[in-house]
Amino acid sequence: MSDGKLVSETKSKAVTMCDFDCSFKAELSKVAGVENLKFCYQCGTCTADCPIARVSKDFRPRTIMRMTQLGMKERIFEDNKIWLCAACFTCVDHCPQGVDIAGVMRALRNQAVKEGKIPKTFVDIKNNIHKSGLAYDIPDMRKRKRVENGLPELPIANSQEISKLLNLVAKSKEPKTENN
Ligand code: SF4
Ligand code: SF4
Repeated sequence: MSDGKLVSETKSKAVTMCDFDCSFKAELSKVAGVENLKFCYQCGTCTADCPIARVSKDFRPRTIMRMTQLGMKERIFEDNKIWLCAACFTCVDHCPQGVDIAGVMRALRNQAVKEGKIPKTFVDIKNNIHKSGLAYDIPDMRKRKRVENGLPELPIANSQEISKLLNLVAKSKEPKTENN
């Protein structure tokens, strides 16, 4: 992830028994949205209809569903592909087995965040928002150019209010199933 790429390459690594974590699968299945994952029979409809899979050969929701069924947590977190999902829900509408693929992606991301496995790109965006309220850190030179060209200065964000809002969002709880 240090080279700025969101997705890391892991294809060359052989799968071993250490890659399967049954407790992860069991834990994740308690999260709302993940209940039907066990019904996935790998038909591939989610991948065929996914707009991100159409433009990125790295992103295959069907594969992520299978890896999640098998409890391949470290592999899933390592390559960062879960972060490519646009949460458009096309796959959810089309899955013949009623799997909430977008919900599984969300649960995987939440777990990755809990374990501190967040792509650097998103950490940078978060830090920028904390600092200025903007996702992109606009260089001073660009700000000066705006003024030189007669454009209004960018508003100065209230970083305290932003931190408060972000902390509230971070504290909001993941919905749980009735079994929890
Ligand atoms: S469409 Fe549904 S059943 Fe088919 S591979 Fe995707 S998640 Fe599994
Ligand atoms: S919700 Fe994610 S996985 Fe499903 S179709 Fe949209 S981008 Fe693809």
